[in-house]
Amino acid sequence: MAMIRNHYEAEHEAFRRSFRTFLEREVLPNRARYREQGMIDRAVYTRAGALGFLCSWVDEEFGGLGLADYRYDQIMQEEAAHSLESGMWMGALNRNAPPYIAKFGSEEQKRHFLPRLTSGEMICGIAMTEPDAGSDIAGFKTRADRQADGTWVLNGSKTYISYGIIGDIFVVAAKTDPANPRSLGLFLVEAAAPGFRRGRKLEKLGFATQDTAEIFFDDMVLQPIHVIGDPAKGFDYMRNGLAEERLTTAGQSLPWSRRAIELTLDFVTERKAFGQRLVDFQNTKFKLAEMLTEVEASQAFLDHCVRLFNAGQLDPATAAALKLKTSEVQGRVVDECLQLHGSAGYMQEYPICQLYADARIFRIFAGTSEVMKIVIARDLIDSRAGTTAS
Ligand SMILES: Cc1cc2nc3c(=O)[nH]c(=O)nc-3n(C[C@H](O)[C@H](O)[C@H](O)COP(=O)(O)OP(=O)(O)OC[C@H]3O[C@@H](n4cnc5c(N)ncnc54)[C@H](O)[C@@H]3O)c2cc1C
Repeated sequence: MAMIRNHYEAEHEAFRRSFRTFLEREVLPNRARYREQGMIDRAVYTRAGALGFLCSWVDEEFGGLGLADYRYDQIMQEEAAHSLESGMWMGALNRNAPPYIAKFGSEEQKRHFLPRLTSGEMICGIAMTEPDAGSDIAGFKTRADRQADGTWVLNGSKTYISYGIIGDIFVVAAKTDPANPRSLGLFLVEAAAPGFRRGRKLEKLGFATQDTAEIFFDDMVLQPIHVIGDPAKGFDYMRNGLAEERLTTAGQSLPWSRRAIELTLDFVTERKAFGQRLVDFQNTKFKLAEMLTEVEASQAFLDHCVRLFNAGQLDPATAAALKLKTSEVQGRVVDECLQLHGSAGYMQEYPICQLYADARIFRIFAGTSEVMKIVIARDLIDSRAGTTAS
């Protein structure tokens, strides 16, 4: 059930098989327990690292496999959807926080941190959102104050942080100049260091096997090795990093839509009403056709953006448009698919129920749909202004 897609080579498909086997052997047998405890065992991440699934894009000299081709990450996102396991969130592990170290970090930071991320010894989260400011980055209150001896003192809190409970380090955005609200720094904050505190594990609508939490910094002393790049350039770094995070969010979102359609096709083929199968109603056929068409069109857009990313050409506005499109499609698809299930779709025993709950956050995290529209419109208007001026 898919368009012909000439996106992958034989080596990608081999990688797919090994990642699928890893999920089948190491993750899926314990799903019920992971749901109960609200997270996957820490040891599974170490195993993922040993098998080369963590930050495999990192250069070999820093412990990675040097698989810079984004399609390897895309495959893991597709396989996570195939398995129906949202907790093994490879996109967030591999592509949200660690690239800040590789792209903007010092040689010393790369040598120290990247091998620990690829092995699974350390899990690295990204900590931007605050209790009083999510979309409004300029409204962040977390502060890092430079001291005379070259160290920094970090104070503040972050919330809704993925891996807030099991994470070992976090890339934290903090204001670095009280006189200049645009001066933002990115800091590598180690959870084992004095002054770091974890809050409660937050109870969520979806993503039942993955932890989200508040984290706090109380007079945390950070050394120069904890400062990423120029401590006044965090906005620029995030603009770059968020494009990658949005590609990754889309890469995860779209396979879940496809999976929802597959599961719904199974269901409507079995279930009967008014003496015929649900799939024989014209409404069902039209809904399936509309959804598949939306998914296939989005797939072409996603694959195009992956190729742009591989060529170093994915710009923030295109990444925002992709994230907007795929997450909005996902919202419509899971809603229609659940509707085609009737009340069965509202029951936890049917996977569409989980897909529906998991989908809701995609229009919010990594920047809301409204923020995506602001990014896209700003680029459009600026490009017109640029054309007029020239
Ligand atoms: C499961 C989960 C995991 C997450 N993981 C992380 C993580 O790892 N790291 C991290 O930093 N954050 C994380 N987040 C937080 C998430 O990225 C933010 O919640 C999100 O960016 C939105 O911020 P907010 O909740 O403060 O909403 P707000 O910014 O308060 O927005 C509320 C509403 O107002 C709208 N709005 C805001 N500004 C405008 C505007 N200018 N124009 C029009 N409408 C506007 C928004 O679109 C939204 O609809 C996670 C959240 C969840 C639920």
